[in-house]
Amino acid sequence: MKPLIRLLSDAVANQIAAGEVIQRPASVAKELLENALDAGSTDIKLAFKDAGSTLIHVIDNGHGMHQVDARLCIARHATSKIRAAQDLLALRTMGFRGEALASIAAIAQLVLTTRTASQPLGTCLTIEDSRIITQKAISTSVGTQISVKNIFWNVPVRRTFLKTPAVESKHILEEFYHIALSHPHIALSLYQDDKELYKLPAAKLHQRIVHLFGKSYQEQLIPCNAHTEHLQIKGYIGSPAQAKKTRGGQFFFVNKRYIKSSYLHHALKRTFQHLIPADTFPFYVLFIDLPADQVDVNIHPAKTEVRFQDAPLVYNVLAAAIKKGLAGHHSTPSLDFDHNVNQVRWAPTAPLASRIAQQRYTQFSHTLPTRQAVAAAQPIASAPTLVSEANQVPSLSLPSKHQRPLDTLGSKVQIHERYLICQVRSGMLLIDQQAARQRILYEKNLQRLAHASGTSQQLLFATLAKLHTDDLMLLQESKPILAS
Ligand code: ADP
Ligand code: MG
Repeated sequence: MKPLIRLLSDAVANQIAAGEVIQRPASVAKELLENALDAGSTDIKLAFKDAGSTLIHVIDNGHGMHQVDARLCIARHATSKIRAAQDLLALRTMGFRGEALASIAAIAQLVLTTRTASQPLGTCLTIEDSRIITQKAISTSVGTQISVKNIFWNVPVRRTFLKTPAVESKHILEEFYHIALSHPHIALSLYQDDKELYKLPAAKLHQRIVHLFGKSYQEQLIPCNAHTEHLQIKGYIGSPAQAKKTRGGQFFFVNKRYIKSSYLHHALKRTFQHLIPADTFPFYVLFIDLPADQVDVNIHPAKTEVRFQDAPLVYNVLAAAIKKGLAGHHSTPSLDFDHNVNQVRWAPTAPLASRIAQQRYTQFSHTLPTRQAVAAAQPIASAPTLVSEANQVPSLSLPSKHQRPLDTLGSKVQIHERYLICQVRSGMLLIDQQAARQRILYEKNLQRLAHASGTSQQLLFATLAKLHTDDLMLLQESKPILAS
């Protein structure tokens, strides 16, 4: 009988491994950037085209590779960074698994050009399906250039899992941020479809943050430091006034690797909780450094979670560092009504009050106990009116000094200039006016979007808006929605 079990060819094994290591163009960008860092580069360029689907190109000025190494680097488990398992405990490099280039070579076409300082000529390899197709000697500067073309060209099904170009570009941008923030002393540039997005000089961390995210960060960064025997925390948190409604701008690094940690994020959330609105996120770039045996370094390349030996210790030191940072900073919440929309209170107007009445509360049922209760609700307009003579028109405007503190509207009562208590057949309703207004506007806008019937007016004179790069990407993606 013929044996049924066979060893997979290297190419197939690599393609399977690539499924884990390379999930999207951004994974390629991350691996190439990390290799460039490991090679001791001081200047790294990343260019990508078509959201990375046709080209990701990284150029570094690191130590380069000899031609033998250049041929070997695309083999599985080929690495110059560790030799034995105990090396994992003294890791100084970003890579160590020897899997990235093998995986990339299995799912994309590669051109690798490299030269070391000791060689007069460099090596240029073209690679396809994990095989070296051509090799030639080439005149090139010291360092390495890798072009990764047509990612997933031989596994088309993987292409179908990619998100929109805007989303994939944003993932690349995020990888770039992680490297840029964790290595501010390295010059970095980023090009998208031949457009320069960033040209960052070598700098200090706070300068790098400003170069990446804009001048508005200059005065808003609060240093955050803590040292214990085995644990160091350093970096910056944004001032409370700078907290944003959208995520993005939360960066943790453990031993220089970007990680995600909802556990540690909680330490920030808790410290900031009375300083910023509940639905906003504080900005932070924080570095946690601890001995390799205190943290599981053998993390999966595509995963960003880590395991700490003593997670509560990290949490507490971090929380203390943030508290200290905030205490040293003037952190009273900003009351700048012109600029901080979160602080502006909504003052309801009379026409809106009657509109709320007409809505019969059905449009903001999410704030109400049940749909049945909504159906039972009576419109204010038809309810018996007990409005004082001085105030004939049902009004939700602020009661003046001479009025009673409670502004009654028939069987409706307004309290704190914000809530309506209404009588309904099955009991009573408590309505948050602001939430009601938001809900009405939300429903209206949903309908407008559905029918593309929104009205707009062009400005007479164009205004120039300065947008942050990832906001610009978001804007481009949202163009159809905005247009409708
Ligand atoms: P790892 O980084 O885990 O070692 P990779 O597959 O990413 O594995 O790279 C394999 C090897 O190729 C590296 O160990 C390194 O020796 C070499 N290499 C990769 N990229 C570069 C580069 N940009 N400059 C110099 N050497 C490189
Ligand atoms: Mg690597």
